[in-house]
Amino acid sequence: MIKSQVGNGHGDFRCASWRWPWPKTLNDRMALSIFTLGGLFLMWYELILILPTYYSETSSTVIAHWVFMLVMSFQIYSNMFRLITTDTSIKTDNQPPILLSDDWRYCKTCQVKVPPRSHHCVICDVCILKRDHHCWFAGYCIGYKNHRYYFVMLIYMTITAIYCNLFNYQFVVTVKGELGVFNVISFFMPHFGYVFLLYDTYTFLITTLSSLGFLLLLIFLWLSQIQLMQVITGQTQHERKKKIIINNVGWKTNLLDILGPRWVLVWFLPWIHSPPPGDGFTISEKKI
Ligand SMILES: [Zn+2]
Ligand SMILES: [Zn+2]
Repeated sequence: MIKSQVGNGHGDFRCASWRWPWPKTLNDRMALSIFTLGGLFLMWYELILILPTYYSETSSTVIAHWVFMLVMSFQIYSNMFRLITTDTSIKTDNQPPILLSDDWRYCKTCQVKVPPRSHHCVICDVCILKRDHHCWFAGYCIGYKNHRYYFVMLIYMTITAIYCNLFNYQFVVTVKGELGVFNVISFFMPHFGYVFLLYDTYTFLITTLSSLGFLLLLIFLWLSQIQLMQVITGQTQHERKKKIIINNVGWKTNLLDILGPRWVLVWFLPWIHSPPPGDGFTISEKKI
């Protein structure tokens, strides 16, 4: 293992961790609003609309569904909050006084020298430390300091999507009838039956929501698979697309690089202190 000669012992390059969470662009503001309101709508849909159709009286099963949905919602919203309020950018006032290694690049936009694995985001308008990608729904980039929150949030969103699709199945069957050719067609084209007056507005809305729920499940599974592969191989999104593997030190160590030393506790509370190893400027390299 080779340690590049950057970062450590040359002063504190870490930027202040808090950032104002309001996204910079209109698109990102809309996406964050859809994420926030969509989650609240989902809770209402599952717990207030559908759950009473399964169980007419309060029971331990009903309470279990409430607890599950509330815990999932808490995990998703709190990790999103930590994600968007954690500054993972490279600020000019944190710029080291000298170029510490040959592999540092100069960002013309930020007019600072940036370490390896950092990239400029045109939406955030700043260089991001160990940049993974820009998340529309967060309105901010995923990088060295907030990758953990994104990873945990995404896994919880996928679990919730699986749960909701299974939980809703019997309800949708009750509204639309058993699986048949027409229901399959209307599942992919919810407007089909409504335009041709084959079902009413209520059925149209339930059909649309069940289609949307299944689509979201596929998207979350796809994103989770991408993240899992990247985390296991120690790659950022840029490195995966360019087929660059420079920091693969084994899947366990790669996982700890994202989740930090308290990798179990981070799944319970996003405020658990579990910083990723190093400072984001120092890169441990293992050429493969
Ligand atoms: Zn930059
Ligand atoms: Zn960005």
